[in-house]
Amino acid sequence: MTRRDFLTIAGVTAASRLSGASGRAPNIVFILCDDLGFGDLGVYGSKIPTPNLDRLAAEGVRFTSFCSADPVCSPSRAALLTGRYPTRVGVPTVFMPQDPGGLNLDETTLANTLKVRGYKTTCIGKWHLGRPEPYLPTRRGFDEYFGIPYSNDMTPRPLMRNTEVIEQTAELSSLTARYTEEAKKFIEKSKGSPFFLYMPHTFPHIPLAASERFRGKSPLGIYGDVVEELDWSVGEVLAALKKNGLEQDTLVMFSSDNGPWYQGSPGKLRGRKNTTFEGGVREPFIARWKGRIPAGRVSDGLASMLDIFPTVAKLCGAALPPKPLDGIDIWPLMRGEKPLIERDPLLYFDNWDLQCARWMNWKLHLARHNTAAYSAAPVGGRHSFLLPRPELYNLAKDPDESYDLAADNPDVVARIQAKIAAMLPGFPEPVRKAFDEQQKRKSDPGTQSGAYGRTGPKP
Ligand code: MG
Repeated sequence: MTRRDFLTIAGVTAASRLSGASGRAPNIVFILCDDLGFGDLGVYGSKIPTPNLDRLAAEGVRFTSFCSADPVCSPSRAALLTGRYPTRVGVPTVFMPQDPGGLNLDETTLANTLKVRGYKTTCIGKWHLGRPEPYLPTRRGFDEYFGIPYSNDMTPRPLMRNTEVIEQTAELSSLTARYTEEAKKFIEKSKGSPFFLYMPHTFPHIPLAASERFRGKSPLGIYGDVVEELDWSVGEVLAALKKNGLEQDTLVMFSSDNGPWYQGSPGKLRGRKNTTFEGGVREPFIARWKGRIPAGRVSDGLASMLDIFPTVAKLCGAALPPKPLDGIDIWPLMRGEKPLIERDPLLYFDNWDLQCARWMNWKLHLARHNTAAYSAAPVGGRHSFLLPRPELYNLAKDPDESYDLAADNPDVVARIQAKIAAMLPGFPEPVRKAFDEQQKRKSDPGTQSGAYGRTGPKP
């Protein structure tokens, strides 16, 4: 954070809108899984038992329409920590270990703004917003860092504490347990002041590994083992909050960065990680703050990973950054004060290429990339092609995006296109350029066949 950012934030810091039982600003715990699917928790219909997350949902609110800002790891995290579209903050796609950059250094992270508000901050787990030291968590508003700086399928795979490598090749099966131990220690030592615990787990991103206690336990295989261990970890964090008398002073949130990859379930949604169908971007999202969020609610209101920054900043009395945010305050959805909030469409990109837009219950697909969903093709080998015609899906009636209703609803198509046209000029030049090129590019006849978007009777 620059001195200017610091002064801007410090100068407009407002009193906390809400406080916990102790009268101080709430602690924030955000637990993020990696590649966990919409259908991978018991409370979301999975056969994998997740009693601790089910209990978290029973004690708070569970969202059915919470979307990541992108179907892959780094951009989703960038959206979470900045409240801005990944394409605005220098994170259009996944960072590799050798990449020289990371999340743009002139962006303010949620940790930056909470730190100015007096929070103790830590990041425990997978960072994936830049490996060089200036981009590591300890330079982006976090007091401490413990974890792997990117995905567990990348080489080398160091385990780090702050900026030091403490294990050249992280031992995967022990990671969830070690992250959990670190989180419990942080809660214990930080309980005297407000804190922000950001806990982005390494799993269930492949390669999968579980500790001896969980390995082979699940009848659903190693994926089940891993998810059960993650659920155990959540239970340990919740127990630590309870033990330290912090349950009514802490907003706990749980989600995933993107949809499931090779394993895992997107539930009844179409698509997986790497696609902008709902299965790639819709995530489980649970929020609990005892005494503030009514227990046992389900919210169908549309919400995004982009919304966490403005929501948390407002709750904590922390200032918004100088740059405009794309997210909105979803506290009224968490509390159940509103069933939905009218907002601009949520845009989904593949790298710089706009693919589709979600507006209320409508999803308009404009373009699609030309590789299979699970292809390992390098980004440079992929091209985004304009669809022969826009496809429109009604997600309330057709959650698996099977029935193209564009021809029957030209007014909705035009309305969303007009909203997109109004939004795009505010995006960085590569986005605008990619959009223009996409409009001009001759599509491959195979891609033009309509194979991706079936038409049929109205649902
Ligand atoms: Mg991921």
